[in-house]
Amino acid sequence: MTCKNTDLIERLRNGIHSGARPCAVMFDFDGTLVLMRAGWMPVMLDMMMETLSSLGPDPAVLRDQAEDYVARLTGSDTLVQMEAFASHVRSLGGSPRSAADYKSEFLDRVNHARDARVAALRQGAIGADDLMVPGSRALLDSLRAAGIPLFLASGTAHEVVAEEAKLLDIERYFDGIYGSAPANFTKRELLAHLISNGTPAARILTFGDGRVEIEDTREIGGTAVGVATDEPDCLEVDAKKRVWLIRAGADFIIPNYLEADLLSVLGIV
Ligand SMILES: [Mg+2]
Repeated sequence: MTCKNTDLIERLRNGIHSGARPCAVMFDFDGTLVLMRAGWMPVMLDMMMETLSSLGPDPAVLRDQAEDYVARLTGSDTLVQMEAFASHVRSLGGSPRSAADYKSEFLDRVNHARDARVAALRQGAIGADDLMVPGSRALLDSLRAAGIPLFLASGTAHEVVAEEAKLLDIERYFDGIYGSAPANFTKRELLAHLISNGTPAARILTFGDGRVEIEDTREIGGTAVGVATDEPDCLEVDAKKRVWLIRAGADFIIPNYLEADLLSVLGIV
């Protein structure tokens, strides 16, 4: 395998050892493969600011604080981000609603955009690949061709992940699809399950745009590829995501899956 850096692949440390092909690959869903909810973060922060802005003197500082925990908790169930938001409101002397309430309001808002994308897809106005990070399908094809088991794990509701995976015709690539409630596994539990079933931890490869899957993967000694894509164009590295993902321990940073050397850099071919 080649170990060079290329224009689109930033290597933070040596990941998979030379010659050792990944034995299992875990993908996060939103922002890693699928763009159904692209732009969710400004929607979430705008919603939070409707409450936060009256609780402190400097809205910009409050938004930065919110962005910090929202980014830090990306990849887990949205409820966890909303629990952090409720604590933030409380710490500023406000009276938060329940985290479940906030989650439900956020989903209502973000689903407007998502529903419009699904409608456009069903009408044929856009194609499935227009709603995916560039190069996703070719990467999935290559991984399948290499005979590597693939798993999808997401903090988004299981029924939503399953439905969208089917709609985008990517369901067939995966040996297992795990969304949040009623989930069988969180990302961490899926990794533990793979290891207990005999997959060497060091040969587990994860693609993710959230801190959770990157940290969980690094913790078990796997290799983590941080997908720091600049939504919605997804052609360049998003500088903020890059910093968060490196902080979480990413071995590589990529903006999308278009770099021709990606497979060889990761030891897949
Ligand atoms: Mg994600």
